[in-house]
Amino acid sequence: MSVTSGPGPATRSAQGGLAIALDAQRERLLPCVHCGFCLPACPTYNRLGDENDSPRGRLHLMKAVVEGRLDAGSDAFQTHIDRCLGCRACEPVCPSGVEYGTLLELARETAAWARAPGFLTRTLLAVMGSSRLRGAFFAVGRLLRSVGLAGLGARALPKWAVLANARLGLAMLAATGDGMSGLRAARPDVTSADAPARGAGAGSVAVLEGCVQDGLFGRINGATERTLRANGYAVTAVRGQDCCGALHAHAGDLAGARRLARRNVEAFERVGVDHVAVNAAGCGAAMKEYATLFEGDPDFAGRAAAFAERVRDVSELLVDAGPRRGAPVPCSVAYDHPCHLQHAQGIARKPLAVLGAVDGVEVRIVPGADECCGGAGIYGMTHPDLGGRIGGDKVRAVRSVGADVACTPNPGCMMQIGAGLRLEGAPESVVHPIELLDESYQRAGYYA
Ligand code: SF4
Ligand code: SF4
Repeated sequence: MSVTSGPGPATRSAQGGLAIALDAQRERLLPCVHCGFCLPACPTYNRLGDENDSPRGRLHLMKAVVEGRLDAGSDAFQTHIDRCLGCRACEPVCPSGVEYGTLLELARETAAWARAPGFLTRTLLAVMGSSRLRGAFFAVGRLLRSVGLAGLGARALPKWAVLANARLGLAMLAATGDGMSGLRAARPDVTSADAPARGAGAGSVAVLEGCVQDGLFGRINGATERTLRANGYAVTAVRGQDCCGALHAHAGDLAGARRLARRNVEAFERVGVDHVAVNAAGCGAAMKEYATLFEGDPDFAGRAAAFAERVRDVSELLVDAGPRRGAPVPCSVAYDHPCHLQHAQGIARKPLAVLGAVDGVEVRIVPGADECCGGAGIYGMTHPDLGGRIGGDKVRAVRSVGADVACTPNPGCMMQIGAGLRLEGAPESVVHPIELLDESYQRAGYYA
């Protein structure tokens, strides 16, 4: 079994709507026994009530394409495969172990060969796939954010369809601002400076900087490095690393995802660390699955698999090493599970253990915390109606617990939930659990 690329654009027309990528993977479709256990877990099925927008229905469509009963360019295949969030809530509840996430990426690649993705998707993937374009894009974003234009635009623009996406984009950008500023303003004097950073006994680590994380949430990467060092890890910088490729893979651009993944494997190999630390759930899930991405490339598959073995969510590393306790940070947090941490990586308790190491933090789990927020990579932008509906439900759930801040360990979720809060005029900001641990260590004087 291997994940293989289909033909390039030159042969696309000759192949027509054939299910090239899916056809090479037809065995992955076989385990589905049509039991329907996955249906109640699916946010799109729950909202739309259409079997075609359920995991079982989408697998049925994939099978129909593979068997030649449905064209990959048909509206049915394009619409329902496109409408999937890729949240993978259907995987852990499936008794047959259907690899839905992998199949979805192959279905999207097949769909893209039959009909090119929309302009917005193509533009965002082109920007994220180029370090130069990405750098310029995020520099403009940081400027708009710093002068307050992002928040102002999000509030001032009307909800007209033609401007709805710009309004949402600006709200998402505004939501990337420093969510800790309110808590930091209440920081007491440093309580003690007698607890210096531990030695490097926990092992060596390099941190994935990421694309959105590096461009708009650089403070979280800084907090990640500091808290890892404070827990005994030797942190090494890695030059030449790139976007993890998750956005490309989820959109069906598997060739683009492999190009970025290869660059990361080569860059991290050069420093030879024990672990690759990731603080973005979507990136961690994608990098842990690099072995699957390169199954069809025997020359690189072994290296990709060895790399994937070393990838850890930052909460896994911190829990392995303690984490040590710092000074109290009194506040209540509304915690929401990112899909790609809980469903794709099977990690739910470790970020809560990180928060549990911060005295004074009262964790309130958001009702329905295991359901997608509607952000789902670029879904919130490409599907403003359904993504907005799902996001609106999430924001109401977040607000229902009445916490000081919302908290979730994934930049896409932080942007989606933060944008919803901004558009509602809500006072809560959104933070990453690492930011609260970092604040706790700042207050304890660990970095003094
Ligand atoms: S739970 Fe698994 S086996 Fe059952 S219908 Fe859903 S995907 Fe198929
Ligand atoms: S990935 Fe999420 S939206 Fe897509 S079929 Fe599975 S549960 Fe439904």
